[in-house]
Amino acid sequence: MPELVFFSGTMDCGKSTLALQITHNRSARGLQGVIFTRQDRAGEGKLSSRLGLVTDAVEVGDAMDLYAYLVGELSRGGRADYVIVDEAQFLAPEQIDQLARIVDDLDMDVFAFGITTDFRTKLFPGSQRLIELADRIEQLQVEALCWCGARATHNARTVGGRMVVEGAQVVVGDVNRPAQEVGYEVLCRRHHRRRMTSASAHAAALSPDVLPVGRA
Ligand SMILES: [Zn+2]
Repeated sequence: MPELVFFSGTMDCGKSTLALQITHNRSARGLQGVIFTRQDRAGEGKLSSRLGLVTDAVEVGDAMDLYAYLVGELSRGGRADYVIVDEAQFLAPEQIDQLARIVDDLDMDVFAFGITTDFRTKLFPGSQRLIELADRIEQLQVEALCWCGARATHNARTVGGRMVVEGAQVVVGDVNRPAQEVGYEVLCRRHHRRRMTSASAHAAALSPDVLPVGRA
């Protein structure tokens, strides 16, 4: 039976690499996939991993109907045996419903890769809908560690070097204002709650005015 599978994780979980591995393994078996992505680091319509592998992908727009897109491609004689979605957290909830319809009505596996929660520890709307609809959820093994050595399970956003927990869910950094540069770091939950990034922990360790952290 075809499945809608949500591969979920944090920012540094290596999900794009896994997406490319699935593509590679299936093409070796003669299968052809359609890859959807949204705001990938390689630019529009690309799927990239930190290993530097890049493959062509279909950039998903706000109002795009993914089910209708596939039906259109197939009716024009195009071929699609399965679907991969990268950065699935950025999809609208309705687009996740369209993915479920692709599985049920077109009999295709859909593998969606996404970050579960944002820098405020809240679910992304696309990820929430995936958790609600997926046949299976695979928690990707976390590669990254917090600066303390614990598993990094939460995404932190820094603005001008300071961790923030308020703001828009998606922001693009402003290169013209380096003092307000937006950065991301993965932390364990404890240090996300305490808003301690590696930089602030380092600064605290160097400051004689700061009392040692208690047992809390
Ligand atoms: Zn930590």
